[in-house]
Amino acid sequence: MEFSLTDEQVMFRNMAREFAQRYIEPVAKDDDQNEHFRWEAVKQLGPLGLLGALVPQEYGGLALDYVSYAIVTEEIARVSLPLAMSVFGSHSVVEEMLMTWGSEQQKQKYLPPMCSGELFGCCALGESDAGTDVSNFSSQAELSQERWVINGEKTFIINGGVSSLVLAVTKASKNGGEPGIGTFLITRDVAGLSSQDIVAKNGLRACNIANVSFQGCQLPQENLLGSIEDGNKIAESLLQGINLGVAAGCVGIAQASIDASVQYAEERQAFGGTIGKFDMIQEMIADMIVGTEAARLLTYQAADLKNKGQPFTRQLAMARYLASDVAIRATTDAILVHGAYGFGTDFPLERYFRDVAEVAQYAGSPLIHKLAVARHTLGIAL
Ligand SMILES: Cc1cc2nc3c(=O)[nH]c(=O)nc-3n(C[C@H](O)[C@H](O)[C@H](O)COP(=O)(O)OP(=O)(O)OC[C@H]3O[C@@H](n4cnc5c(N)ncnc54)[C@H](O)[C@@H]3O)c2cc1C
Repeated sequence: MEFSLTDEQVMFRNMAREFAQRYIEPVAKDDDQNEHFRWEAVKQLGPLGLLGALVPQEYGGLALDYVSYAIVTEEIARVSLPLAMSVFGSHSVVEEMLMTWGSEQQKQKYLPPMCSGELFGCCALGESDAGTDVSNFSSQAELSQERWVINGEKTFIINGGVSSLVLAVTKASKNGGEPGIGTFLITRDVAGLSSQDIVAKNGLRACNIANVSFQGCQLPQENLLGSIEDGNKIAESLLQGINLGVAAGCVGIAQASIDASVQYAEERQAFGGTIGKFDMIQEMIADMIVGTEAARLLTYQAADLKNKGQPFTRQLAMARYLASDVAIRATTDAILVHGAYGFGTDFPLERYFRDVAEVAQYAGSPLIHKLAVARHTLGIAL
């Protein structure tokens, strides 16, 4: 069992940290206040290789292993959870799906422009009546006369209004046959694809989140990813890809809450000394540290199992549950450590709190992942 990072992992962690501190930190507050999605920051990740973090080098990517990917996601999220979710909870997941399920032709067509930022992806599963219960999709794809025709509406889609490649999961049937699940690659120029940005969001305000609509979108057969027969497995692996990014992102923001709380506890004076000398402040900081470290280790463990091609569903559910739960608590406690200043905008704590409250729901609430841990162990289907 190896708990230390490799030299390469340390290098990528430092690269992501330096990027985030230099380019994102100075604008994170403004972007939150103005609900501004910062394309420039996304584009800057291209030359660093981080728009194709997991993608093999032959397609223009960095070919990172999943632990390194989690580390990089954590570092970006430590400064900006919206940017981390846009790139590592969405765009990179589309790439991962192409790598896992795509034909050679699809990989060659989509992966290089995705790594350079020419194409930007989003994952569109959720619908107004199909959130946790993804089996309740109303969106439909029908194959007739050699073409897929897609109709439906997806809700709360990260990058939904700015992506040029939508990975859409819908019910799908061939020539009026039994419906299964289909996953489709739909570029922005396809007629009938439109999106409506969601505005006045409470959290993740610097993220583009939109409702995406398909009205008679026609696609050639080669735009189906994998097969209808593998539809459930593809949707499951898509959710797992998202959840590794969400777990790592939550660890990042929990760490940011620790950093801010420790600094404040060492500076803020009350009753003739720093507040860091008070037991209850120490208790909150200790709980944040222990929870965050445990969530980080579980996240790395899930990523490591995924690297090795071993079963990782249970570890990922544990990581996703703990990381989001810890992040919600850490951001709340960090506000308490900061007293009245925690609710003001001079410090980023209230932003962290709002961002985590939103992200925690993405691809299942913490409760669903907690249930998944128990049911996986008890052998009961979710
Ligand atoms: C910020 C944000 C970004 C998102 N981005 C995307 C995206 O990019 N792509 C995408 O496809 N979707 C996205 N979503 C949608 C997201 O995945 C769904 O909102 C999520 O799966 C929860 O679905 P729901 O909101 O319909 O909640 P519901 O399914 O209605 O759940 C409501 C509550 O009931 C609980 N519950 C539901 N089922 C059960 C059960 N069987 N047992 C016990 N409790 C249960 C849940 O835990 C939750 O607490 C995003 C959502 C948010 C908030």
